[in-house]
Amino acid sequence: MKRKRVVVLGATGSIGDSTLKVAHDIPERMEIVGLAANSNAEKLAAAANITRPKAICLVDERKIDLLRTRLKYEPKIFAGQNGLREIARLEDVDMVLIAIVGTAGLHPALDAIESGKDLAVASKEILVMAGEVVTAAARKRGVKILPVDSEHNAIFQCLDGRASEVRRIILTASGGPFRETPANRLGDVTVEEALKHPTWNMGPKITIDSATLFNKGLEMIEAHWLFGVEMKRVEVVIHPQSIVHSMVEFADGSMLAQMSYSNMCFPIQYAVTWPDRVPNTLPPLDFSTLSKLEFFPPRYEDFPALNLARRAGETGGTLPAVMNAANEVAVAAFLNGRLRFPQIWLTVAQVMDRHRTVAHPDLDAILAADQWARAEATAAIGKK
Ligand code: NDP
Repeated sequence: MKRKRVVVLGATGSIGDSTLKVAHDIPERMEIVGLAANSNAEKLAAAANITRPKAICLVDERKIDLLRTRLKYEPKIFAGQNGLREIARLEDVDMVLIAIVGTAGLHPALDAIESGKDLAVASKEILVMAGEVVTAAARKRGVKILPVDSEHNAIFQCLDGRASEVRRIILTASGGPFRETPANRLGDVTVEEALKHPTWNMGPKITIDSATLFNKGLEMIEAHWLFGVEMKRVEVVIHPQSIVHSMVEFADGSMLAQMSYSNMCFPIQYAVTWPDRVPNTLPPLDFSTLSKLEFFPPRYEDFPALNLARRAGETGGTLPAVMNAANEVAVAAFLNGRLRFPQIWLTVAQVMDRHRTVAHPDLDAILAADQWARAEATAAIGKK
């Protein structure tokens, strides 16, 4: 069995932490050969000092000196946006794991594909904004895109290569911290309340997306591209315990589900070791303490993100990129106290309504739509 040589982009974040734990847990199967972060020089140096990759990258060039002073060995150091693209093309690498929050991972993802590396994707934004471009590039170059997002990793496990026999893909959602909050109270929820996810410990952007259900909306579009399944076959069910990570219903009516505790090390490990399964130190499910698994339909009217995402995914073209960019701007404004919670989806809907969708866009058209949506959302928020 081969040891995978992995570059991790977004190494200082929540997924980055879990990826380093997996590498520590299965050293015979996984070797970290590159680590990249945006500006957290101390944390990047600390991680590098432990895992000793041959290359590291810090996008924020002002912190390179600080990074050097903290390193206890001499890896190759890349800096800036170009550095991120260079480390994605590093030689003698099997897989690039993209865990950069937002859209900054798109170019490095394409670089990794073009230079023949498999991609492990946590950054759902990449597939939402440029699913057609990224999956076509991977097909052309003959590389794999392996899902790290727990839901898509679950579907990947259930499908086991049989995408043509699928009747429905059912994404599970915890429902977030406001699953039971009455609609008339959503206007008063605070940033602190929104950041308290009931079952997962994640970075701030995805945690807010889980509270609005935009996270699940993004995942619907991600599933459509990853598995080549039409949007109308991708459904969502609320499952507060986050034990069933998603399900697939096949043509014969049989349904397969994947279960584990909510710990991102499970999907990260499977993305790295696929198609093999190898032992680890992760806790197995204990059914003597799991008293119930519940499933409910989502509250579509109170959480419009799901219908906005369905509309974006079904329309396709540049609309998913616009939804994603407007959401990023709105989430940042909510975190800064400049928007109320429901104004996140109101802003996104407003920007989507104003967009003139371009069908089958190339990368330039996608990036132009992304920029347009950011400017529109910023202007809309300024007026609120
Ligand atoms: P975090 O906010 O915890 O970490 C983000 C990481 O991205 C950090 O390493 C950060 O570096 C880096 N980064 C941010 N901006 C840039 C940039 N412009 N260029 C290069 N690096 C950058 O996020 P998460 O780990 O929670 O999420 C990462 C991605 O994974 C997101 O797309 C999210 O949707 C997805 N995901 C996360 C899950 C989770 O459990 N956390 C589950 C499933 C998917 P620095 O620290 O230096 O700022």
